[in-house]
Amino acid sequence: MNPYDTFRHHLHRAHTLGGFPPSLLQQLETIEHLHRTTLSVAGQRYPAYRVQHSSARGPYKGGIRFHPEANEAEVMTLASLMSLKCAVVGIPLGGGKGGVQVDPKTLSREALEQLSRAYSRWLTEENIAGVDRDIPAPDVYTTPEIMAWMLDEHEKILGYSSPGFITGKPLMLGGSAGRGTATSQGGFAVLAQHLGAEKLVGRTVAVQGFGNAGMHFALLAAAAGMRIVAVSDSRGGLYAPEGLDVSAVQTTKKQHGSVTQHPVGQPISNEELLTLPVDTLVLAALDGVVHDGNAALVQAAQIVELANGPVTATADTVLEERQITVIPDILANAGGVTVSYYEWVQNRSGDRWSAETVYEKLTHTMQQALSDVSAMATQHRTSLRMGAFILSMQRIAEALWLRGRL
Ligand code: NAD
Repeated sequence: MNPYDTFRHHLHRAHTLGGFPPSLLQQLETIEHLHRTTLSVAGQRYPAYRVQHSSARGPYKGGIRFHPEANEAEVMTLASLMSLKCAVVGIPLGGGKGGVQVDPKTLSREALEQLSRAYSRWLTEENIAGVDRDIPAPDVYTTPEIMAWMLDEHEKILGYSSPGFITGKPLMLGGSAGRGTATSQGGFAVLAQHLGAEKLVGRTVAVQGFGNAGMHFALLAAAAGMRIVAVSDSRGGLYAPEGLDVSAVQTTKKQHGSVTQHPVGQPISNEELLTLPVDTLVLAALDGVVHDGNAALVQAAQIVELANGPVTATADTVLEERQITVIPDILANAGGVTVSYYEWVQNRSGDRWSAETVYEKLTHTMQQALSDVSAMATQHRTSLRMGAFILSMQRIAEALWLRGRL
C-alpha cells in the first residue's frame, strides 16, 4: 500500500463511520488542480509539481519539498492530508503541496538559488500561487533561505511587497517567531494534554528521527520530566534505559553529524527502536516505518506521529486492536501549519507577535483540536485517527454545503 492508498483507506473508513454523503468522498478524492512543469537549471531538467487539493475552507496551503524521489502521487497525498490537517486545527486554509524532483545535496548554492527562483517564477507567472490563492512553505530539504529567494522572485515579478505569499521565511523578512519549533511544540502540547501534565514525569520515550521535529520534541519532553531512553537518525540509534541527556546528544549530532557518535548508551537499529519497552514512541522520520511486519511487536502505550504517514493502514488496525493509542499525524504535526498560518496573519496585518504570544495561541489551538478530536472519537467509538478524519471531513463538508457545492 503506497501512502495515497493509506490515505484513501482512512478516508473511506471515516466516511462510513461519519455517515457522510457519497458526494463528499468523491470531492475529497478529487484534486482541484494538478500543476506540473519541468524546470531547467544549469543544463539540467527537474520535474516540478504543485498540487491544490481543496479550497473549500480557504486558500491552499502546503510545503514544497526538494527530494530525489518527489513525485506526483506523493505530492497528491500530502496535499490531501493538508486539507484535513487545516480543518482539524480549525484554521481557514485548504490543502496544497509542492515538490521538485532533485537531490539538493548535488547542487551548488548558485544552482539551488536558481532552481528556487525558477520554481517561484513558475508559481507566480502561471498564477498558481499568491497571498490569497495558494501559500507555500518549507518542507523536506527546503529552508527559510530558500523561502527568502522564492519571496524575492515573486515580489520582483509583482512589483510590490507581498510577504504573505510564502511562510517559513527568515524573521527579518516577515517570518514568525516560533516557526522553527512549532511542529514539536504542537505535538508535545497534544501529548501533555492527552496524558495529563502531572503524569509526564518519569515516563519513558523513544524518538525515531532526531531532526528538527524529533529533536525539539525530545528537548521539550525532557524539560517536562519525561525520560528520553532512545533516539535515532538515518545512521542508527542509541538506547540508554536510565535516560539520555538530550542537550548533550544534540551537541554530538551538531559536531559529528549523527546521534550514533554519542558516547553514552548502546547502539541499536532503527527497527529495534520501534519495539523498545517504552511508554511513548515518537515517529519523526519517515512514512511507513510501522507496518504489518512489526506492529505486533510495538510495546509503547502510545505513538505520536510527528512524521506524515509513519504507520501503514494495516499496522493501524493492529495497533487499534492492541489498544495502543496513536495520536495521528493530521493532529500531532499540525503545529507547523498552524504557526505558518500565524505568520500569514501577521504578514497581512503588518503585525509582529512575540514568541510567547505564538506559543500561547499554538498551545490553545492544539489543545482545543485534541478535545474536538477526542469528543468525535468517543461519539463514534473509534480511534483518535478516525476522530480526526471525521472532524475534518465534517468541517470541509459544512464549508462545501454552505457554498452550495455539496
Ligand atoms: P529533518 O530532516 O530535520 O529530520 C529528519 C530526521 O530523520 C533526521 O534526523 C534524519 O537523520 C532522520 N532519518 C532519516 N531517515 C531515517 C531512517 N531511515 N530512520 C531513522 N531516522 C531517519 O525533518 P523534520 O523537519 O524533523 O521532519 C521529520 C518528519 O516530520 C517528516 O516526515 C516531515 O514531513 C514531518 N513534518 C515536519 C514538520 C516540520 O515543521 N518540521 C511539519 C509537519 C510534518
